[in-house]
Amino acid sequence: MPRVVADSHRNPKVRTVAVDRPAPERATFLRASLQGLGVTVKHFFRNVTTQRDVETIQYPEEKRPYPPRHRGLHRLMKRPDGRVRCVACMCCPTVCPAHCITIVPAETDDPTVEKYPAVFEIDELRCVVCGLCEEACPCDAIRMDSGLHAPPVEFRGDAIETKESMLARGDVSTATQGGVGPDWREVGPLGPRRD
Ligand code: SF4
Ligand code: SF4
Repeated sequence: MPRVVADSHRNPKVRTVAVDRPAPERATFLRASLQGLGVTVKHFFRNVTTQRDVETIQYPEEKRPYPPRHRGLHRLMKRPDGRVRCVACMCCPTVCPAHCITIVPAETDDPTVEKYPAVFEIDELRCVVCGLCEEACPCDAIRMDSGLHAPPVEFRGDAIETKESMLARGDVSTATQGGVGPDWREVGPLGPRRD
């Protein structure tokens, strides 16, 4: 048992104690070892019978749900006629801190659309999943809400997402583009604007 050898003048709860320990040759750790073993056995049987404190899951058969704001693989959004929404403004490759976006702009035949990306590639091995590209996009053309992981690849080139692969995950956006169409803030799923 600890012995109190001095009290603190400043705080009555602070005390100096001394512990009388047996000589090393007479010390036994049997009791402490059995106590520790008892805790282990208690947890073992509790987890086997109730699994109350088991945190591990059987991945990949079991998967945890992603949080709503999880940033997954990129996808390119489409116009109502299925064409890519991106106008090759170069905002996203400019803001990308990993320099992993490659866009080759080209002119379109449509007089209402100045440019489109003839090439749009993202190197997912260099991407740091910061989300700045979708933040910077002025026309809801690129999103990271696919809910998908970048898949493991054997060759580096296989990690490059192309315009076609990202468009395959894309969807028609309800955002207004180029001043054409309804204002999504008035009619969209978020309801009427509040400003
Ligand atoms: S998430 Fe960040 S790093 Fe990845 S492509 Fe977008 S801007 Fe670049
Ligand atoms: S995805 Fe958006 S930000 Fe990037 S080039 Fe296209 S329009 Fe510009």
